[in-house]
Amino acid sequence: MRFADRMFRLGTETAFEVLVRARALEAQGRDVVHLEIGEPDFDTPKHVIEAGKAALDQGYTHYGPSAGLPELREAIAQDIAQSRNITVSPEQVVVTPGAKPIMFYVVLALAQAGDEVIYPNPGFPIYESVIRFVGATPVPIPLREERAFSLDVDELRRLVTDRTRLIIINSPQNPTGGILPPEDLEAIAQVAVQNGIPVLTDEIYSRMIYDGAFHSITAYEGMQDLAIILDGFSKTYAMTGWRLGYGVMPQELAAHVTKLMVNSNSCTATFAQRAGLAALQGPQDEVDAMIAEFRRRRDMFIAGLNDIPGISCAMPQGAFYAFPNVTAVSRSSKEVADYLMQEGGVACLAGQDFGEYGEGYLRFSYANSMENLNKALERIADCMARLQG
Ligand code: PLP
Repeated sequence: MRFADRMFRLGTETAFEVLVRARALEAQGRDVVHLEIGEPDFDTPKHVIEAGKAALDQGYTHYGPSAGLPELREAIAQDIAQSRNITVSPEQVVVTPGAKPIMFYVVLALAQAGDEVIYPNPGFPIYESVIRFVGATPVPIPLREERAFSLDVDELRRLVTDRTRLIIINSPQNPTGGILPPEDLEAIAQVAVQNGIPVLTDEIYSRMIYDGAFHSITAYEGMQDLAIILDGFSKTYAMTGWRLGYGVMPQELAAHVTKLMVNSNSCTATFAQRAGLAALQGPQDEVDAMIAEFRRRRDMFIAGLNDIPGISCAMPQGAFYAFPNVTAVSRSSKEVADYLMQEGGVACLAGQDFGEYGEGYLRFSYANSMENLNKALERIADCMARLQG
């Protein structure tokens, strides 16, 4: 079989590979604490599950419209309008199986060979992967610890060229837990508007914010015509396996993205969309309780990491990831992550899995029980002592 060149440009998400390796160790009888995969350890709220089951009984077992069920697009438009303080029409909403396809479709729709796309590094690895896949040039904007993992807007200005077709931002951010403060968002919006460059704003962790309010770049002047919001149900409603996400974008782009849906998925599972409707319209207390619990774990886990010689960890402001600096150990982050897994039974990801500017860091997901997090801290402390001894 001969494969198309583009297949060799496609990257991956190492979290799934590390999970497989961790499971293999478990099959040999080893105990592994899973801090690698980025999903809430909570169950989908009961009323959402009930809505999904009821939808199956009511016959939501057929194809639906490619852009999503009208009632869900309407509810998403209302929710986004209210939470971002902007006006949104249902025609701007495209519902997809998980939020990931929005990344893929938007990059496919806007960039091609010869174009440049600016993306955060360290950042969600799929951005760089799909930019390369479509033949465009990925242009990393470094996120540095000394700026609390926000980006340097002057540096962004210098990276913009007449070939820049898209800027990708993500706040709260995976893997750093950093946020883009309002003044940076405003400055990024100015860069986008002055140059007429669309911005894909990945807001999948918008509800998981621990100190202060969430700010979206969409609220700044001129962004309504340029912003593409990526959001979904996976993290907020602990629905990763349901595969339900969406994009909110200018209508002319929504038409192209819908055509990509017709050509790939046809539609998102209709019973899952009915469950999503219940999630948006029903009580939010379980979401609030989950976030309160993540805050408690964050405070405990980051304090614990900072007590370990050789590790220093900035306080993440959102999402559910810790991104500690392990440069004190003279090993690559990959070697440290492998050591923690093999010798310590703690599965985590290496910073370099999120791009070259992630080197020197590890990513732990603290979406796990207090008991497991404490067990992990003991094991990490032990491994770090051995690595430095
Ligand atoms: N964006 C970011 C930053 C993520 O971390 C993830 C999942 O890990 C996604 C998007 C994709 O979410 P979904 O599971 O809805 O496709």
